[in-house]
Amino acid sequence: MPVNMDHHWLPFSNNRLFHAEPQMFESAKGVKYWTPEGREVLDGSSGLFTCAAGHGRSEIAEAVYEQIQKLDYTPHFQRAAPISFELAEKLSGLLPEGLDRIFFASSGSEAVDSAIKICLAYHKANGDPQRTKLVSRAWGYHGVNLGGTSLAGMVGNRRDFGGITCDVVHMRHTWNEDQRYTRGQPEDGAHLADDLEAICQTYGGETIAAVFVEPIAGSIGTIVPPVGYLKRLREIADKYGILLVFDEVITGFGRTGAAFASQEFGVTPDVMTMAKALTNGAIPMSAVAVKTEIQTRVIQSITADRPELMHGYTYSAHPVACAAALATLKIYEDDRLFERGKALSDTFLDLVYSLRNLPQVTDLRGYGMMSGIQLKPGAAPGEKGSIVQRRLFDEGLHVKATGDALIFAPALVSTEEELTQMTAILQKTLGDAELA
Ligand code: PMP
Repeated sequence: MPVNMDHHWLPFSNNRLFHAEPQMFESAKGVKYWTPEGREVLDGSSGLFTCAAGHGRSEIAEAVYEQIQKLDYTPHFQRAAPISFELAEKLSGLLPEGLDRIFFASSGSEAVDSAIKICLAYHKANGDPQRTKLVSRAWGYHGVNLGGTSLAGMVGNRRDFGGITCDVVHMRHTWNEDQRYTRGQPEDGAHLADDLEAICQTYGGETIAAVFVEPIAGSIGTIVPPVGYLKRLREIADKYGILLVFDEVITGFGRTGAAFASQEFGVTPDVMTMAKALTNGAIPMSAVAVKTEIQTRVIQSITADRPELMHGYTYSAHPVACAAALATLKIYEDDRLFERGKALSDTFLDLVYSLRNLPQVTDLRGYGMMSGIQLKPGAAPGEKGSIVQRRLFDEGLHVKATGDALIFAPALVSTEEELTQMTAILQKTLGDAELA
């Protein structure tokens, strides 16, 4: 049946181009999508880093169905449902030691904005209300709400929106030419964390509330932190009393080998955001995990009978989302999916690095089950990325382009055969020297 496309304004899309050449998915199972015409398209980006356990998981569907019938919604303002405590407890068992107080929201962007407000509230409660400045990093992505847009280091994400709220200073990103084709962490570059020290000296460390980084920058096309970089950031943040926030919206839930990149790289932040694979993408949900003392301090700062954090969303800790998350975490545990992802990573990265000498490839980056494939640029920035993304869709592979890079990050349940099939499609398309 033809679809009337007049009314839905698509996010993150060129709507005119979409109307001319629609790319639709109508169903999905495992690591495959199907178009309305019934054509199979392999999922090389786990949806958008969301569907780590593959699409169409009946365990999640059943949990959601049961929860809606049992309790479909809970209000806040001194009300809650037991299921949200159950989920928070479960999550705190997965998180690095000490990060055990969990605030829920519905998207990565909401988690980031919540994290900013928690950091500000903490400093105020701590007698440091002048700590209002934030630090983030060039090429970083932290969602599209006002706080996350302010933190954005991908310039295109701020360009159209004028001067936006928060006071943010950016560190440099960590990529350079010498790192081309590095597999895993680059050896050199820990000194780039000293940008935080320089910012402290310029603005006064006592004015800075928090530094936000993605442990592996995902949305720009997988930029892996140099050895020692995150540890150095931790040391400088500690020296100046700045909260370290890891945005693990992409890197959480087994993507890097451990449950969280924080554990993989052995650096514990004060605050962590997560979303996407928390519910395997099936129901919107995100969370902010904070160290015990952050919550304790904020709670103790209020003596009157009023909320200590005047923040939350109608859909925070939504019971149906909690049910989806619990079912998802059970799959991760029962199927030992993080271990599976770790074990699969070598094969995956071998396949990724087999693309090295193709005419359209100028750099490869990879860690765990995520990789970035940098393309030979086209006539205008981002043009080659769109052309390749479209061509791959026609060839039967969904891979997200970001500028002139591809984000190849298949589900942790992928088989070697499926990964090989995906790579063969990449090989064919990126091997076309004429592609323009
Ligand atoms: N932070 C990071 C690191 C992300 O990758 C994303 C989404 N790609 C977000 C925040 C925003 O998440 P959402 O799109 O769910 O708002």
